[in-house]
Amino acid sequence: MPGLHLAGAYEVKKNVNVPVIGVGRIYPELGEWAIREGVADIIAMGRALIADPYLPNKAADGRLEDIVPCLSCWECLDGGIQAIVQTVIDPNSTSKGDLGCAVNPGAGNEADYRFSPASTPKRVVVVGGGPAGMEAARVSRLRGHDVTLIEKEAQLGGQLIPGSAPPHKEAISLLVEYFTTQLNKVGVKLELGKEATLDNISSAQPDAVVWAGGTTPVVPDIPGLDSSKVVFAADVLTGMVLVGDCVVIIGGDGTGCETAGFLADQGKKVTVVDILPQMMSKEGTIIQMRLFDELARKKVELLTGINYVGSSPEGPVIRTADGESRTLKADTYVLAAGARSNTELVTSLNAKFKGVYVIGDALEPRRIHDAISEGFETGRSI
Ligand SMILES: Cc1cc2nc3c(=O)[nH]c(=O)nc-3n(C[C@H](O)[C@H](O)[C@H](O)COP(=O)(O)OP(=O)(O)OC[C@H]3O[C@@H](n4cnc5c(N)ncnc54)[C@H](O)[C@@H]3O)c2cc1C
Repeated sequence: MPGLHLAGAYEVKKNVNVPVIGVGRIYPELGEWAIREGVADIIAMGRALIADPYLPNKAADGRLEDIVPCLSCWECLDGGIQAIVQTVIDPNSTSKGDLGCAVNPGAGNEADYRFSPASTPKRVVVVGGGPAGMEAARVSRLRGHDVTLIEKEAQLGGQLIPGSAPPHKEAISLLVEYFTTQLNKVGVKLELGKEATLDNISSAQPDAVVWAGGTTPVVPDIPGLDSSKVVFAADVLTGMVLVGDCVVIIGGDGTGCETAGFLADQGKKVTVVDILPQMMSKEGTIIQMRLFDELARKKVELLTGINYVGSSPEGPVIRTADGESRTLKADTYVLAAGARSNTELVTSLNAKFKGVYVIGDALEPRRIHDAISEGFETGRSI
């Protein structure tokens, strides 16, 4: 929760005669309020300043819409915690950990994250309005290029839209808001609700094309799965489809587990199954701990290391890691079995144009950090 420790700061303040500092998921307006109302004397921010080191200046100038929002996603703390653990194991360790930030790829590396105006302004077409495409468009435009961004959906955001739906992920929608404001402010031409094709890209006569078309979900071949009961996790999270009372989620990575928490909050009986021995193996330690704890509290059943061994009229038959044979009965099966890069137009774009850049999940499905980082790099090198 934003300001989660302010109530504690207030209690301390009532009992001491020294200034009290309020901390914990504080954004400028909340910090102002806390000081004005006497909840704390001073406000300290941590992660928010990693996300945007210019936050204090922007707040002082009243440019709140220009502040890059911290997602409170723990990408930064995971690196820091590794360093602390390393220091405990070896007190002589000089490891500084790997400070990362989902929204500020320059965190810890600020001197290298600069750009200068383009020597020759170019016409740039960016395909895809996810974080990779939006950052590429923003930076290219700031450098003086003429930039058009084509997005097939009616709104910007890409996977950030379903990504902001699970419990505790609301801050991701602030990132969509931030980019939408910035792209309009710097003058990127937005063509929303339009699918990019070789023809319409060519008619823009671009000098450079950025392909940031994201991913398409993997559909695993599972015997006994009734296709009329199968939906994709992203469609569940965006409310495009409804699910029955009893749900089996196929795939236990971050998306599968977060979708489980989202559906359990709606009172659904949820089971997550995965053929791998561990769920969420690509997530950081803190995120894993938080999600496992949340899913245990919400009584979501997690089955790892399963094998699909057959089918029955009621659903796929599996063998669990304990050797038990079970039928996966469900009203709805939610697919969260990974995604593969969408490279639909890449070959034909490469054949037709010289400057083609493939970035973000379209290059390899990964995370927001990689998408924004590659968007920035591309924007500054065109
Ligand atoms: C539920 C969920 C939760 C997630 N949570 C996190 C998280 O907590 N932290 C994290 O780091 N990452 C998270 N991710 C992953 C993260 O959202 C992606 O890595 C990131 O969005 C990839 O950005 P992108 O710009 O490369 O692609 P996308 O966000 O997929 O955007 C691609 C865009 O291209 C558009 N497009 C495709 N083809 C065309 C075309 N022909 N014409 C026009 N437009 C086209 C698509 O409509 C889409 O809007 C999550 C993902 C999901 C689904």
